[in-house]
Parts: sequence; structure tokens; C-alpha cells
Amino acid sequence: KSKAQMFDANHVKVTFKDVAGLDEAKEEVEEIVDFLKNSKKYTDLGGKIPKGVLLVGPPGTGKTLLAKAVAGEAGVPFFSMSGSDFVEMFVGVGAARVRDLFKQAKEKAPCIIFIDEIDAIGRSRGKGSMPGSNDERENTLNSLLVEMDGFGTDSGVIILAATNRPDVLDSALMRAGRFDRQISVDKPDINGREQIFNVHLKPIKVSKDVNAKELATQTPGFAGAELANVCNEAALIAARNNKPAVEMDDFMAAIDRVIGGLEKKNKIISKEE
Ligand code: ATP
Repeated sequence: KSKAQMFDANHVKVTFKDVAGLDEAKEEVEEIVDFLKNSKKYTDLGGKIPKGVLLVGPPGTGKTLLAKAVAGEAGVPFFSMSGSDFVEMFVGVGAARVRDLFKQAKEKAPCIIFIDEIDAIGRSRGKGSMPGSNDERENTLNSLLVEMDGFGTDSGVIILAATNRPDVLDSALMRAGRFDRQISVDKPDINGREQIFNVHLKPIKVSKDVNAKELATQTPGFAGAELANVCNEAALIAARNNKPAVEMDDFMAAIDRVIGGLEKKNKIISKEE
């Protein structure tokens, strides 16, 4: 298997319309879309286009979706990898993957590199939690820093990285010329939840009693991924009961089910601690 298969450089179809609620974050990434589309406009005036932008927020809030939408809006390839893909026990593999990723991206510029869970490689050095693999992780982080420093701001490659643990990141990552911009991608408020429901209700056959606003009031604390999950579960519940359309009580049952799933997950997490 060639390493190239790890990266999805296909042109993406996701656009800002698919990302609901995150108005402030969307406004900030709109600038990045323009950097990718019209880089010359900025560099001609001597401006330095940012190389790295950190998307910070809890799981399931749409960080990956937003990064894809940036690529989709700009019409550029999207290289995606998860921080945990770089972490290998074998000496040199993580660092080699980083170099390979940047090499491919530079050839396809302008483009986006998206690194999910950057904390898996970007934890501050010397404070790792996995004894034995620390040196290797540090090698990988160092090669990421070297690669980021090694290309010019006019290369057309912009790196977006996501984390829900900005507190553990090595400060070297956030230095000028690296991930020196942060965008927060928070859990939606009631209006955001209504907008996210409106996106995810679209493909679902719902009965007249189904109301996005009411669903939003019933789901405080839910992230976008959980709301998408509620819509899907509701459809499955209604279908199993042979209904011609999904009704409000199916959504209520789905909300209970998603809350149940979350509680189970939290129990497992607290057991581990
Ligand atoms: P993680 O940190 O766990 O990787 P994430 O923040 O990257 O999560 P995504 O993977 O982007 O979250 O979200 C998962 C799915 O949840 C999306 O593909 C989408 O279906 C739905 N979703 C999440 N947030 C939104 C949103 N703001 N608008 C519409 N859909 C959303």
C-alpha cells in the first residue's frame, strides 16, 4: 500500500451551506478561502499569508466539516490525516509520513492540509503520557515544525489543525509562522442547534408536527455530530415502526437514545481515569 492513499486529495463537495450555526468561525475561515483563491493579491502588497490555523473546540462540533468546507469553497484539494496516524512505534515512520504529506501537498498547491487530533503529536515535549513512544512522537512533532518552517508563506499550502485540548499543545507549535491563528468552534446555542437541525432534517421524510425549533429546545448541550445522530436515529426508529414519515415522538425517543449513548461513553471514560 502506498502512503499516498492515506491522503484524500479529491476535490471536496462540502461548502459553507453544509456548516450550520458557526457564524463567527465561518466568517474567520472565509478569509482563508480568499488567501487560497487570490494569494497574489496579498503577497503583492507584501502580506504574509498565515501557514497554520488551529480549530479549537469540543468533539463533534464541526471542525472537520469546516476545514472541508474551506477546501470546497476555494475549490482546492484537501489532504487529511489524523494526528494518531502519525504516531507509530517504529522509529522514523511518523516523521517520514509528515515529510511525505508535505511533499505531496506542495505539488498540489494551492491546497489544504487538515490534521485532526493534532494533540496526538503536538503534546508539549517531555510531558507525554505513553512511555517508550515519547521520543518517536517528539521526532514526529519536530519534523512537523521543520516542514512548516521550510515552506514559504506564498507556497499556497495552508494547514488547518483541530484539537479539543489546546492546553496540552507544545508552545512551539503556536509560534509566529506556525499555528499562529486560532478559531474556536464551540457547541451550538439554541439558534445554532435549530440551524443544524434544519440541515440534517432535509434528507429525512418528516411529518408535519416536526419542528426544528422545538427539537433545539430539547437538546441543550448537544454538539452538531449528536444532532445529526438524533436525526438519523429518529428515522431508523420510525422506519422500524413502519411509519410513512418520522414524527416528533420518534425524535424524542432518538434524543433519549443519544443521551443514553453519551452517558455510557462518559462512564467508560471516568472508569479509565
Ligand atoms: P472531532 O473533534 O470529534 O473530530 P469535529 O469537530 O471534527 O469532531 P465533525 O467530524 O466535523 O466534528 O462533525 C461530525 C458530523 O457532525 C459532521 O459530518 C456533520 O454531519 C455533523 N455536524 C457537526 N457540526 C455541524 C454543524 N455545525 N453543522 C452541520 N453539521 C454538523
